[in-house]
Amino acid sequence: MPDPVRVRIAPSPTGNLHLGTARTALYNYLYARHHQGTFVFRLEDTDEERSNEAYTQDIIQGLRWLGLTWDEGPDIGGPFAPYRQTEKVDHYNNIANHLIAQGRAYHCYCTPAELDEMREEQKAAGGLSRYDNRCRHIAPEKRHAFEAAGRIPSIRFRIDEPRVISWHDAIKGEINIDSSDLGGDMVIVKSNGVAIYNFAVVIDDTDMKMTHVIRGEDHIHNTAKQLLIYDALSQQPPFFAHAALIFDIDRRKLSKRHHGEAVHVDRYRQDGYMPEAMVNYLAQMSWTPSDGREIFTLEEGCKLFDLARVSKSPAVFDVQRLLWFNGHYIRSLPLPLITDRAKPFLEAFDLSSYSRAELESIVACVRDSLSTLSEIAPATKFFFDTAVDIPAELKETLIAKESSQKVLSVLHEKISQLPFGNSAGCKAVVDAIGKDLGVKGKELYWPVRAALSGSTSGPDLGTILSILGAARVKSRIEATLICHTK
Ligand code: GLU
Repeated sequence: MPDPVRVRIAPSPTGNLHLGTARTALYNYLYARHHQGTFVFRLEDTDEERSNEAYTQDIIQGLRWLGLTWDEGPDIGGPFAPYRQTEKVDHYNNIANHLIAQGRAYHCYCTPAELDEMREEQKAAGGLSRYDNRCRHIAPEKRHAFEAAGRIPSIRFRIDEPRVISWHDAIKGEINIDSSDLGGDMVIVKSNGVAIYNFAVVIDDTDMKMTHVIRGEDHIHNTAKQLLIYDALSQQPPFFAHAALIFDIDRRKLSKRHHGEAVHVDRYRQDGYMPEAMVNYLAQMSWTPSDGREIFTLEEGCKLFDLARVSKSPAVFDVQRLLWFNGHYIRSLPLPLITDRAKPFLEAFDLSSYSRAELESIVACVRDSLSTLSEIAPATKFFFDTAVDIPAELKETLIAKESSQKVLSVLHEKISQLPFGNSAGCKAVVDAIGKDLGVKGKELYWPVRAALSGSTSGPDLGTILSILGAARVKSRIEATLICHTK
């Protein structure tokens, strides 16, 4: 029996939740759920200068918004908190000292200035920048001199060269990395006592019994380094899977530097995207279920997910496609849910003049036309306005026409006959007026639409009448008749 699957998302809180991290979290989540395993969230927050609590909160909220709930962590009442690496600083140091005792790591006394100088020389000589392992065999007198001068050492891990580090990647297949390409012996604990990512991650993944590490392919060289550390610690490494990175439609890697807020998951929440659409879009970006379906829920994705079907080629983030998914979910999620989600976008309006059922009808009559919920305010504004703003051009060319005035005044007379709350019934009254007056199509509907909503297009006319109710319909029609006679 293989060990139960344990996977994790391990972001560093040095920035807001990035789309790439969200996709990695999603793949880990899908993998865990597919195998009835455990999904862990661990904050790799050892880089104190670049980490901050606002980023941490953004990542936590973003994962929750996407519905990627994790199964373990400190119990703070309610959902679990994430694990944090900063809680384990002493543990990392003890293990680093153990590696020193075994001769697999050593103290390095190089100062930043000396390292810079070394790199400059390498550059001038046309070589690649790497640590030249100068402290690996430091003479005892030199060490004493450095210590006497107050230098505080970092700890470096020995990377023996040449050596080929190989693994079978669950997405990319066979990978071979030459240890000479890893930049020389690597720092694992900085002189301030803080463990470096490549070291802490191995200890954490071991301690947390991770069976699989699924992450972006920008970590492939890190994986090679980490495999050397697993080996030095005599620990069995997890299986690795590296997903191809995400690019924009112009083939540029998605990055905060180039794309700013467009890579920030919360921006999509703020702009009225559905988490169901984000999850579906991100999941299918580099993975197609075996039955070829494009639209699937998170739950369905869990059932269908298969790492072996994740593409090796770069994923392309195309916001137009995401909008297509979003429109689909705005149209198809339950109306009460969409209404609740729409409310923050309708904040500018006084919603109290409509009942909950009417509000749902308002959302229902426009939702097919929306690709994000942020579009709902302009689409429904006329329902809430006390007076409709009819563009001057429409007043002159449409409302002022004799036939329009006729339609509007007859409708005004027949307001009491409109069966409000019944769209088809309301539409039938308008059609009957058209029949009596011998007008139809645009000539009949457009003046009514313009009078009620300020536009000749929009939701179904019967629905508009039905939701607006007698008082609003009356005052709006009167406004157009008065406007004409002025
Ligand atoms: N902290 C690393 C990052 O943010 C995690 C990589 C990993 O999954 O090991 O990219």
